[in-house]
Amino acid sequence: MKSHRNFKDTPIPLSTDVTPILLWQSDNSALYTHFNPPWLNFTGRTLKQEKGNGWTKGIHPDDKQLCMATYLHAFNLQQTFTLEFRLQRTDKSYCWMQNIGLPQFNGKGTFVGYKGTCVDIDITKLATAALKESEIKLRLVADFSYDWEYCEGKNKEFIYISPSCEKISGYTINEYLTDVLLMEKIVHPDDRVLMDEHLLREHSTLSLSETAELNFRIIKKDGSIRHVLHSCAPVFDDHRNLVGRRVSNHDITDRKLFEDSMNASELRYRRLFESSMDGILMLDAITGKITDVNPTLIKMLGFTQAELFEKEIWEIGAFKDLAANHVKFLELQQKQFVRYEDLPIETKSGRTVNVEFVSNVYVENNRRVIQCNIRDITSRKRVEVALAKSESRYRELMNNLEAGVVFHAADTSILMSNPKAAELLGITANQMDGRLSIDPQWQFLTAGSTPMNIEDYPVNQIIRTKLPIKDFIIGINRPATKDTVWLLVNGLPVLDKQGEIEEVLISFIDLTEIKNAKEALEKITADLQTSNADLENFAYIASHDLQEPLRMVHSFLNLLERKLKDHLDDTTRQYIHFAIDGANRMKILINDLLQYSRIGSEKDELLPVDTTLVVSNVLHTLHQLIAENRASITTKDLPVVMANKTLINELFLNLIINALKYCKAKEPTVEVGCTETSDHYSFYVKDNGIGISPEYFDKIFIIFKRLHNKDEYSGTGIGLALCKKIVEIHKGKIWVESEMDKGSTFYFTIRK
Ligand code: ADP
Repeated sequence: MKSHRNFKDTPIPLSTDVTPILLWQSDNSALYTHFNPPWLNFTGRTLKQEKGNGWTKGIHPDDKQLCMATYLHAFNLQQTFTLEFRLQRTDKSYCWMQNIGLPQFNGKGTFVGYKGTCVDIDITKLATAALKESEIKLRLVADFSYDWEYCEGKNKEFIYISPSCEKISGYTINEYLTDVLLMEKIVHPDDRVLMDEHLLREHSTLSLSETAELNFRIIKKDGSIRHVLHSCAPVFDDHRNLVGRRVSNHDITDRKLFEDSMNASELRYRRLFESSMDGILMLDAITGKITDVNPTLIKMLGFTQAELFEKEIWEIGAFKDLAANHVKFLELQQKQFVRYEDLPIETKSGRTVNVEFVSNVYVENNRRVIQCNIRDITSRKRVEVALAKSESRYRELMNNLEAGVVFHAADTSILMSNPKAAELLGITANQMDGRLSIDPQWQFLTAGSTPMNIEDYPVNQIIRTKLPIKDFIIGINRPATKDTVWLLVNGLPVLDKQGEIEEVLISFIDLTEIKNAKEALEKITADLQTSNADLENFAYIASHDLQEPLRMVHSFLNLLERKLKDHLDDTTRQYIHFAIDGANRMKILINDLLQYSRIGSEKDELLPVDTTLVVSNVLHTLHQLIAENRASITTKDLPVVMANKTLINELFLNLIINALKYCKAKEPTVEVGCTETSDHYSFYVKDNGIGISPEYFDKIFIIFKRLHNKDEYSGTGIGLALCKKIVEIHKGKIWVESEMDKGSTFYFTIRK
């Protein structure tokens, strides 16, 4: 019971210490006869004034009645009396006096009056009153204290128990008073040994009047456990005799729980500290001394714990710059929170590590500490640099792209666009920002140059279908330049995790020139087709109509030759022969021309044709020529192709005839074969003939183009032109590779 005081120990000053004794005397008629000078000095009155009952005028009115009654009562009985009353001083103030009267008897035993002393007990009286008040207050405190206070007598009997015993233990004062063992019973079994030891120790040190303390648990009446701080002290009387014990039990359950949770949180903090991915440094805020450092920081810096511990921060190389710059350390000391986003620090090996440095100042055990969290941002920085680089590359690309790029939000508003987009769409970048597809300023056109419906705008198509669009042609009437630009648009949706449109990316290139060129080309092609058709028509009509007069010339020349046969001289006969030969050649030429002009006029559909059969048919047709020339012809890998059989037959016929024909004196060796790619067949006809000079590789396919005169090699110069026409009808190509005197290979392709 710390707050309890041993009242009897309080020193009370004796009245004699502070004032001389006042003396008085009375006679047997109860009247006062004598007062000594200290009395008269004290009251400030004369002996004459005080004599008899005059002195009673100095008694405080409140005390007078009791005082006189006591005095007269004692007088009648001739007994010793003690009176306490207030007596007026010279300065009119009252002072508590203790008046003791002793009855006086003469030698014969007759009562003669009283002699008495009167002492100033003002201080004693006040002290007693104060003590009384203090005791009441203490009781009040004890009664209303949250602590469970009690006093025990010498034999451990309760003298006082505060009502809080019930709040703390659940048992009432009465229960303690009736069950002397209750106090021991409520001690938790696990703490009983502790309590016994405490009591023993207390017993052995009782004389030392020490206060002893103990933490133990009690089991409350409701079975719950409370933690109690028990403190007790012995109580002694004025003569230092042990009279009992005063005890205070303070319920510390909440504190204990708090402490336990604090311990748990300290443990948690420690674990965090040890396992944190950030380096953590604890500094004494005043001295700058390193008080703790976690393993991550040790690893990061390369210094050992011993090298870091108990050093001042500026002694450690890594923080030299930071600490050397005193302003910075002051900043750490003074500001509650300091953050450096990118601070270069040096490891023990001299390597620079970029760190994010955050410091907090707080008070821990009455000591200001700075906690510094240090995060290695080297790799983050690397990523940031790479990101910035890629961002700038991306910017550069966007700004210099020859294609327009526009990002739309899901509501079609333009989020971002590149300069080319603004240029192609004919508005400024500012006008682009945020513009919606419903904006009436847009004037889009379909590929057919009609105004485009708003739902067909590329962005709306993508939002509606959630599908990309590819090679979509769109025109735009540009408001500023009042011209039309044609765009080839591609676009795709950017979907979120739920599959909803997040953004739409549209890119487009300028198609105006290509479109214009294409249109011009289409016109030229159409014109060309018309003039070709006209030409072919003309060639057909001409060659057809020439046949008849030629036949006339030819037959009449023959008739003339036969009729005049015997009358003609050699020269005339030779002339007629030349004329007939010319007519024959003209016939062949006209036939060839007729055939050439006919090709392509029939729009026969393409059917599967087995080229093995076609080639063997051609060889059969040519068997006499082959035999005469002692030619050897091989064929290999000839596929079935989609073709016009008659034309393919003509194609092989012409190429094989040429291969047999253009070989001078050699015996012809011809190879017919085919290779294949993913989309076409590539046929070849290879000979070992005279070969063709490279400057004629293209020219030989022009109609009537011949490299030799009729005396060297017969022919009309139409064969290869015919071949070219047939190949083109089959959407293929024809070309030659050749070396003079070694031979030629003619290639042509047929689409699969
Ligand atoms: P022609 O054979 O009736 O002259 P072509 O159109 O078939 O007409 O051939 C054109 C020219 O190409 C020929 O005159 C000839 O000079 C050359 N030529 C064609 N085939 C071959 C070949 N296999 N080897 C060498 N030259 C050839």
